[in-house]
Amino acid sequence: MFDAKAYSAASSTSPLASSTIPRREPTERDVQIEILYCGICHSDLHYVRDEWHSVMPAVYPCVPGHEIVGRVTRVGAEVTRFKAGDLAGVGCLVDSDHSCPSCQEGLEQFCQDMTMTYGSPDKQLGGVTYGGYSESIVVDERFVLRVPANLNLAGVAPLLCAGITTYSPMRHWKVGKGQKVGVVGLGGLGHMGVKFAHALGARVVVFTTSPGKKEDALRLGADEVVISRNPEEMLKHVGTFDFILDTVAAHHDINAYIHLLKRDGNITLVGAPEKALEVSAFSLIFGRRSLSGSPIGGLAETQEMLDFCGAHNITADVEVIPIQRVNEAYERLLKADVKYRFSIDMSSLKSE
Ligand code: NAP
Ligand code: ZN
Repeated sequence: MFDAKAYSAASSTSPLASSTIPRREPTERDVQIEILYCGICHSDLHYVRDEWHSVMPAVYPCVPGHEIVGRVTRVGAEVTRFKAGDLAGVGCLVDSDHSCPSCQEGLEQFCQDMTMTYGSPDKQLGGVTYGGYSESIVVDERFVLRVPANLNLAGVAPLLCAGITTYSPMRHWKVGKGQKVGVVGLGGLGHMGVKFAHALGARVVVFTTSPGKKEDALRLGADEVVISRNPEEMLKHVGTFDFILDTVAAHHDINAYIHLLKRDGNITLVGAPEKALEVSAFSLIFGRRSLSGSPIGGLAETQEMLDFCGAHNITADVEVIPIQRVNEAYERLLKADVKYRFSIDMSSLKSE
């Protein structure tokens, strides 16, 4: 065991602050990574403030962060895919049972016994796992991703959660040429959703509550932007969408979007607001429309997404901050004031 510097929260009302956490010595199959950048996901904020208490109660002290990119510093004797000096990525998962039907299909995100990067029981050290707001992490090589060499690393980090969470449902619902696709909310997930839908060849419409994001949405790949608070603009699109991805982090009216789907269209929720959303049965019944959810993605698909990003030169648009500004970043996230993901430069932790 060794100590690593980290930023942790002591309770749901405490700010994140400098601390140290234990990390295990790498075992035969482990990779130790020096973390270079870690994205700030809205899930980090939900978790730290215990907003998901009923589903995933927070355990304190907690160290969030599951959009991790870094450089391998040490590997165990049986590690074959990585060596010291390689770039490496870690997302929301660090282990699973490897034997259930989901794991056998490469869908580790559905494993009943998966270990999340933070807040899950730590099977080696006891206590809970600690995430990427830290100088290093030790992970089983099966949960470590290869990072394309041509991409900007600060912008790669968010691909490990925001990227795969938007890529996976688009692949599942076969987003492609000839389709009209909506993306609701232009934040960390939403802006990645726009980039992927555009790269997959769909016609993309962004729904935003922030009129100031219109120009950016077009630059990111949208063909059209709708200010969702304007009912007239919304009405123009009734019954026209093949697929809509809803990335909104707060309570909102999803029926307004279900109406916009064509017959047999699907809306997938990836945003995870604290409180339940109301669904009108009629908006689903008329048109045989469907409502789904989707969690992150499995390891194989996450690698596919990273390779797709390498081939299409896709990264997140990031505002790089030192770890010392993380609490301020959380407040700005709540105001939808980030273009479009905070990425923490972890070298800033050295001065703590
Ligand atoms: P984010 O960067 O804060 O973006 C959320 C966006 O939602 C905002 O930029 C804003 O876009 C819109 N929004 C915020 N408040 C709103 C409101 N009251 N009404 C309507 N729109 C509102 O968050 P994120 O990191 O992308 O995460 C989004 C959600 O996905 C969070 O709940 C997060 O926990 C969840 N998530 C789920 C998964 C999964 O596996 N399913 C993975 C990661 C994250 P506009 O300014 O354009 O309106
Ligand atoms: Zn996330």
